[in-house]
Amino acid sequence: MIKYHPKEEMLLQHAQGQLHLGLANAVSAHCELCAACRNKLKKLTEQLALDNLVDDEPLVESKITELDFNDMMAQIMELPATALPSHSTTRQLVQVNGYQYQLPRALVQQANKSWSGFGKISRMRLDADEGSARASLLHIDANGEIPEHTHAGREITLLIAGTFEDEFSQYVPGDFIELDGQHKHSPKTANGCLCYTVVDAPQHFTKGISKLLNSIGELIY
Ligand SMILES: [Zn+2]
Repeated sequence: MIKYHPKEEMLLQHAQGQLHLGLANAVSAHCELCAACRNKLKKLTEQLALDNLVDDEPLVESKITELDFNDMMAQIMELPATALPSHSTTRQLVQVNGYQYQLPRALVQQANKSWSGFGKISRMRLDADEGSARASLLHIDANGEIPEHTHAGREITLLIAGTFEDEFSQYVPGDFIELDGQHKHSPKTANGCLCYTVVDAPQHFTKGISKLLNSIGELIY
């Protein structure tokens, strides 16, 4: 069962279209996997549409006929469907190091780049579209781990497939994990996992050999 979700504030910002592409994709992909957040987002989107109508066009409001209102509601109801374009199932599959996974629709269009790898860790860079933020698909082979590190900025990890654990918890697909400079962790996976990550700044490794860690650092930032 999914235990970690985007904060309410982030869902609201997403509904308002205020998140940069990397974060928006993380929230969209989470909502594909999490019915609770999907419903919350739908309600927020509907509420915002109604609020905007009242705020922006106070004079028009009184003239809305029942027909217009029904039209408007129909358009609002269509929003979630248009946010999830359909794709063939073959395009939703991603392969890495002999593993194959199904991707959330929110990430499918971008996931056509090549993988870079170091040891058991592989990364495909996606678009974040915002300053120093970087978005990636990150795969860890079975029995792999990322050395202990902390973050200068914010690190968002959406677990797409497989499981991993760190000092704080064990995670299942759909878990949306937000960490910052106050957290130090070393994620490891028994059976392999695929994550989508968005980070604001490079990781800072807290133990180990710097030369090795720099190679891993370039992959995961
Ligand atoms: Zn959720």
